[in-house]
Amino acid sequence: PIPEIFELWYVYYSEENAEVTRALDILIASKQKISNERCQELHQRFLSDSSQNEKVKQAGDKIQSTIKDVNTIVNNVKDATSKFNSSLTDVSEKLETGEMTKDQVQMVVKKVMTGTQDMIKQNQVLEQELSKSSKAMKELQRDLEQVRKEALTDSLTGLANRKSFDTEINRISKEGEGGGPVFSLVMMDIDYFKSFNDNYGHQVGDQVLRLVARTLVEGVKGRDVAARFGGEEFALIFPETNLAGALKVAEALRKAVAAKEVINRNTGDKLGRITLSGGAAQFVAGESVEDLIERADAALYTAKHNGRNQVAAAPMPGHKKAAS
Ligand code: GH3
Ligand code: MG
Ligand code: MG
Repeated sequence: PIPEIFELWYVYYSEENAEVTRALDILIASKQKISNERCQELHQRFLSDSSQNEKVKQAGDKIQSTIKDVNTIVNNVKDATSKFNSSLTDVSEKLETGEMTKDQVQMVVKKVMTGTQDMIKQNQVLEQELSKSSKAMKELQRDLEQVRKEALTDSLTGLANRKSFDTEINRISKEGEGGGPVFSLVMMDIDYFKSFNDNYGHQVGDQVLRLVARTLVEGVKGRDVAARFGGEEFALIFPETNLAGALKVAEALRKAVAAKEVINRNTGDKLGRITLSGGAAQFVAGESVEDLIERADAALYTAKHNGRNQVAAAPMPGHKKAAS
């Protein structure tokens, strides 16, 4: 009974999201166990945007009302200024005709001074209101930046999420001139993670996901992208890197993860080591991003098939067998 899971099933029950309905129907039809983590995964995949949309909408509303407030104040000041102007014109006309007595002149000067005081006050109010509004706008800017960041980040691991990965890989695949960009993709998946979860529980599983994520982030540099592709699968994009270069980094990452001993934070128990399998593929000019992902995935499958805890290279398209 947590909000995300409740929301997921509410959305399913109300049939308001076709993707959610389809995903759950498939799980139900295949008689798979629909665990809490499955639900959370589905929520993250299909629904986590909606709360962010709500935040963006709220920010938008706030901006609208701030702009309205500022407009009102500016209009008030405009009115006051034009009134003041016409009273000055009035006075100067009277003074020019020279028809006034000394007392009348004094009165007029007094009126002008009061008017000036009022204008100064009005301007001070305007200044205060404007600085309030600009502070509010700055806060909104920060909020929106925060929302934007959250929308691109996987909440469990802090890595780039799937959406961010999709955007990045599509962008990078369109770089480069003529022959297309040189870049590589590595898919990595935790070995036997299901049994790790079954043995030690989901919480410890989550801790492992964070440990792997941290190791990946520490092991990549510059413009490299480390993303959580889904579940216990990670995707790494290496711009300006050929297959040999990507294999080298992937191999180093695999070793770094395998070298770490997992310790249960609560009990201090040593839980042994976890390993990763990986598949690396270099982008080939003209191929689609989907094809590239498929080739990296096929290489990952080869690494699993060959005994796990290793990285395999995807052959160029057209060649049959992946080499490890
Ligand atoms: P393989 O070596 O072939 O990859 O085996 P595996 O057990 O790792 O693969 P499988 O796809 O059978 O199981 C993946 C498991 O990852 C199932 C699920 O319990 C776990 N998992 C996926 N996402 C999460 C998550 O967010 N947290 C936790 N704790 N576990 C997760
Ligand atoms: Mg796995
Ligand atoms: Mg997997």
